[in-house]
Amino acid sequence: MIQACERTGRNPDEIAILGATKSVPAVLIEEAAKMGLTIVGENKVQEAQKKKGELKSPLSWHMIGPLQRNKAALACRLFDVIQSVDREALCEKLELCARDIGKIQDVLMEVNISGEEWKSGVSPKNLWGLIEKTQTYENLRVMGLMAMAPYSENPEKARPYFREMKKLFDELPSHISKPHEARILSMGMTGDFESAIEEGSTMIRIGTGIFGKRNG
Ligand SMILES: *Cc1c(COP(=O)(O)O)cnc(C)c1O
Repeated sequence: MIQACERTGRNPDEIAILGATKSVPAVLIEEAAKMGLTIVGENKVQEAQKKKGELKSPLSWHMIGPLQRNKAALACRLFDVIQSVDREALCEKLELCARDIGKIQDVLMEVNISGEEWKSGVSPKNLWGLIEKTQTYENLRVMGLMAMAPYSENPEKARPYFREMKKLFDELPSHISKPHEARILSMGMTGDFESAIEEGSTMIRIGTGIFGKRNG
């Protein structure tokens, strides 16, 4: 990570590390927190709920997996940031849930940058329309964008997708009423975080690179 920053003249302090903790037991997350991890990302609402109850360290909780509308209320109570917001119906529901509990819910818009059909995320074409709809919502705050590059053994293959995301991220301030709030560009995982950093990521999501291989 430091090397990728050096290659591009970026300050490592500008890049947050999220520990992707799906299937990682709470005790291991606790260890990582003691060593300085401050942000965790979970893919499932129930799994996060269980672990959050077991963990003592104060952590920032991010939702990074697909979110169903019927889990929105619980997600709203559990997560500081929901990174996987990609459709209008979900935005509406989150706005209502956040209002119910008197919270401003921070969200990222997940973009399907590779265009692979089975992937979640809003298409780049529909991104601005979706964001503009949320601008009337008082309890939803759009903090940035999230994306996943297609899986490949070769991190260079991910680079063009990260570059496209950076272009969208640079355009984001002109589509939101509080441009200074758009600070997070969440992209890069264990296999491709270096090219993500070189292309402008401000948050990398690392699972196996921190916790080792997942079982199941
Ligand atoms: C699992 C996961 C990651 C981390 O993947 P690794 O390859 O283990 O680093 C990042 N983002 C999302 C959305 C994930 O589901």
